[in-house]
Amino acid sequence: MPELPEVTTTVAGLNKVLPKLTIQDVWTDYYLRTKNKRQNTIKNKKYFAYFKKEVVGEKVLLAERRGKNILIHLSDGKTILIHMKMTGHLLYGKYSKLKVKSQKSKVAEKWVAAEKGLLQEPFNKFIHLVFTLSNGKHLAFSDMRKFAKVMLFETNRRDEITDLSILGPEPLDNLSLKTFKKQLLTKPNSKIKTVLMDQTIVAGIGNIYSDEILWLAGVHPERKINSLENEEMKKILKKMKKILKVGIKMGGDSMSDYRNIHGEKGQFQKTHKAYRRTKEKCLKKECLGVIQRKVIGGRSAHFCNKHQK
Ligand SMILES: [Zn+2]
Repeated sequence: MPELPEVTTTVAGLNKVLPKLTIQDVWTDYYLRTKNKRQNTIKNKKYFAYFKKEVVGEKVLLAERRGKNILIHLSDGKTILIHMKMTGHLLYGKYSKLKVKSQKSKVAEKWVAAEKGLLQEPFNKFIHLVFTLSNGKHLAFSDMRKFAKVMLFETNRRDEITDLSILGPEPLDNLSLKTFKKQLLTKPNSKIKTVLMDQTIVAGIGNIYSDEILWLAGVHPERKINSLENEEMKKILKKMKKILKVGIKMGGDSMSDYRNIHGEKGQFQKTHKAYRRTKEKCLKKECLGVIQRKVIGGRSAHFCNKHQK
């Protein structure tokens, strides 16, 4: 799932191309073959009709990241919220709509990248949402597993949007040790790996970066919060800021589906010290440990069996 560095990369890309463009049309097939149709997202056909009516004709002002959410602010005081979830990522380029025969020989619509290149690569081909822009290009959303969430809200009522209001502080917005400690200590009996991924404690961290932060901090993922020394919390915070900045600098992590808006891979996966290195030798200098994998709180944690204590 895209985490803070990947969402940051996407948002930075969007801000280079979207501002001042007008949304001329919007298309989706999210509401087809989707079970949960009652929610207020574009997976609900009625909601999508409302969404389309509101966004078509509006200018894009600016994109913003909050936690793992992409916020695209529009000129009419509305904001589009996109949570990419497991496999979603936004792509920018020229697309064309094709009519294809689906399984029951019904005619279905399908969007494909119109120009040869990365946008035509397999991971970028699961297009389920397309915004047609006033410069003749498109903002398309590839989402193999269709888990993403897309909705609209009134910009000045963002405090009422649960997806945003539940979020903890941003790790890279001058998060102080005092605030970080206070946040951690709201879950004294939980394990540090689980707490780092809890969006209400700090926003934006998921499975990959939490593994890398704890490896770098030398802290075992199963340590309970109330067992952590002040120095350990300080180290976790420091390494968290460091590793997230590295992730942004490398354009995010593309071990799985994530791609930037041009369909390009990020490079953070090349620097992994723990994540998905099960049974490999620890890369810490002079450490004789081996990377272990263990399910903690329903998620796979990867850690060194020697230096992470
Ligand atoms: Zn080690």
